[in-house]
Amino acid sequence: MRVGRSRDGADMTAPDPIYLDGHATTPLAPEAEAAMAPLWRSQAANPSSPHAMGMRMAAAVESARRQVAALLGADAQEIVFTSGATEANNIALLGIAAAAAAQGIERRRVLMSAVEHKSVLATAAELSRRGYEVAYLPVDQYGVVDLERARVLITTDTLLVSVMTANNEVGVVQPIKEIARIARSVGAVVHTDAAQAAGKIPLDVFDLDVDLASISSHKMYGPGGVGALFVSATSPLRPLPLVFGGDQEGGLRSGTVPGSLVVGFGTAARLCSGQLAADAAHAKKLSDMLLEELRQRQVPVTIHAQATNRLPGSLCVQFNGVDAEQLIATLSDRVCISSGSACSSGQLETSHVLKEMGINPIERDEIVRIYCGRYNTEAEMTSAGALIAEAVRAARAPTGRPVQ
Ligand code: PMP
Repeated sequence: MRVGRSRDGADMTAPDPIYLDGHATTPLAPEAEAAMAPLWRSQAANPSSPHAMGMRMAAAVESARRQVAALLGADAQEIVFTSGATEANNIALLGIAAAAAAQGIERRRVLMSAVEHKSVLATAAELSRRGYEVAYLPVDQYGVVDLERARVLITTDTLLVSVMTANNEVGVVQPIKEIARIARSVGAVVHTDAAQAAGKIPLDVFDLDVDLASISSHKMYGPGGVGALFVSATSPLRPLPLVFGGDQEGGLRSGTVPGSLVVGFGTAARLCSGQLAADAAHAKKLSDMLLEELRQRQVPVTIHAQATNRLPGSLCVQFNGVDAEQLIATLSDRVCISSGSACSSGQLETSHVLKEMGINPIERDEIVRIYCGRYNTEAEMTSAGALIAEAVRAARAPTGRPVQ
């Protein structure tokens, strides 16, 4: 039980809702919390400081770097800590463009999938404003990049190809290895936004043959506010920095390295490495269970993007005849789920991912994303199934359109 009332009026005394929104952020692993706690208090230090405490913190940061590198099959020297995947994506795209410009490379074409996260799409829009030609790889009905089109669109004037490893709305895993092979064949630099995939499915940057990969601590049971960019030692280009200062992180990301967050991130990465298969099996079992609960309660659902490679525990569910935003709001203080729609300037924007998958506007408005993760339980699936079924029935009562 929590106490008090939040600034915006949410009831803080109510029991915690069942949290099924792990695409947005995952709860902190207790081991990561325990590793961080002393580093904020009795052992607090700046890892760049010359004294014993600073050196101890620097050693802890380097140990975390090895843990994060191990999760990706990378070398520790190839990991640059950032504030998260948004920053890593910005450094990857803008930094590679700057590096190419500095070397007089004339390639001006940048390719990405049409279902990237906003932090890639918005950065690409900035590249476009700077005179780059940005093109988008289409996806099929499951949200998977069309490799045939990729072969056509990735041309010899392509500087960079950026495709996410797994999607944050529908959980679909992309054929990165094949995309990298196509990009390599024309000499393009390859980046993948692995924020959703890292820690949830096996990832090996060497095997995938990517030059750059972005990851985020708070998507893999680490603390928020820290992430990393993998920059391969063999990348044809090394990104140039976007911020300037104390030259931390090999000069690529100036700013005091947040030792405690980095150690929490490293601990989370170590846990993920050790229990990847167990976490995946648990997540899959729970998401299957939740679907079964809904089925038993005769809740009319359509499951999207099911027949393809997906993140275990991730569900893209359409509650037929029920407005997703209304359902999310109704359940809000009992079950936390979300949709891919973004609310910007008070206007709800439809999900670009679902649109690219060819899902019609009516169906798009009925789709929610659900993620069952490491700390969810079977009992929660039973409760969530009952609560969702109740909310769906209530939502359908006055206005429900016929179920197809
Ligand atoms: N990429 C993807 C695929 C994501 O899901 C997210 C987080 N929603 C990000 C990038 C941004 O990560 P961060 O919050 O660490 O900036």
